[in-house]
Amino acid sequence: VPGADLVYLDHAATTPMRPEAVAAMLPHLAESFANPSGSHRFAREARRVVDDAREVVADVIGCAPGEVVFTGCGTESDNTAIAGVLAAAGGGRAVCPAAEHHAVLHSVQHARGTVVTVDPLGRVDLDALADALDDDVRVVSVMAVNNEVGSVTDLAPVAELVRTRSPLAVLHTDAVQAPSWLDLRAVWPHVDLLALSAHKFGGPKGVGVLAVRHGTRVEPLLRGGGQERDRRSGTHNVAGIAACAEALRLTALERPAEVARLASLRDRLVDALVAADDCVVETVPRSAKVAGSAHVCIDGLESEALLYLLDEAGVCASAASACASGAMEPSHVLAAMGVPRRRALGALRLTLGRTTTAADVDRAADVIADAIGRLRRAMARAR
Ligand code: PLP
Repeated sequence: VPGADLVYLDHAATTPMRPEAVAAMLPHLAESFANPSGSHRFAREARRVVDDAREVVADVIGCAPGEVVFTGCGTESDNTAIAGVLAAAGGGRAVCPAAEHHAVLHSVQHARGTVVTVDPLGRVDLDALADALDDDVRVVSVMAVNNEVGSVTDLAPVAELVRTRSPLAVLHTDAVQAPSWLDLRAVWPHVDLLALSAHKFGGPKGVGVLAVRHGTRVEPLLRGGGQERDRRSGTHNVAGIAACAEALRLTALERPAEVARLASLRDRLVDALVAADDCVVETVPRSAKVAGSAHVCIDGLESEALLYLLDEAGVCASAASACASGAMEPSHVLAAMGVPRRRALGALRLTLGRTTTAADVDRAADVIADAIGRLRRAMARAR
């Protein structure tokens, strides 16, 4: 099996599919191939699969089945939330914090919206948000869990601010990183729109969800055959939708036990890294972030060099820095949090998930400590 000897600590980028989700897909890739929009019995069968999936997804979110819209990815759900609300309102302004995923951030910037500051943990600064809110605002987007550093935002005070300062605005949350760690039923009551992406919780790539509260006006991005009650045209990805629902159902079912198991593995990993080198700092304290997130910064090292050595040793991790005009630039999230540039350039994002074991964590800790040592010795020789 390719990847069997790898330590995969990049679950925030994507997750391995659950075998049950693969099994839920297969019949619809083979014999049950009908288009659910058709009228014959074969099509009606496919439609039932989509309807059943919708009920499962609605149950996990705590919304009505009619509020679930299946989309083509998390990015599409986020884009629909921002552009669709502004289009339905015939104008107005969008607002989001600076640490959002680019699917939200670039949508807000494209609509000439307002980007507000975040606190040192990457959560929206409520004072800055309050200053940005007025009667012109039509959509506010605040993520539930940050994809880089893992910090969790309490959406209750955000919702309260939006309601009082921008009564004409709806609140969208990018909850793409949330299902493995948070109870979506505790998130949904605060928002009007909520985005998910199946590949982040053991489902397939290319399937998203946008929950749209009844009464919320959102223009579709895609027009055509009128699927999803005119909210998202395009022939349904029946196999992907069935697998998305099965993955989400199992994720919600196993969540309490998995959160406890992975928090303890994450703590073991971070404790080992902090003990191995004085310059390893936890970017966000554990109490403020999800159980699977182990983001650290290593002062004075460059992530790219570290990731190269990790990759050579079979440890898959990420950094989220970007190469802009030939020089490494720290991630927009760390920059927004005010992490000093020298430290941000040594960012290492390790994200755990369903398949992570104690052996993975121990091997990763050894490999990372060894790589840090090698890089420091190489730098000392170069001086
Ligand atoms: N939002 C967040 C927070 C994410 O982590 C991602 C995935 O990287 C997305 C949106 C985009 O989701 P998708 O890959 O399904 O387009």
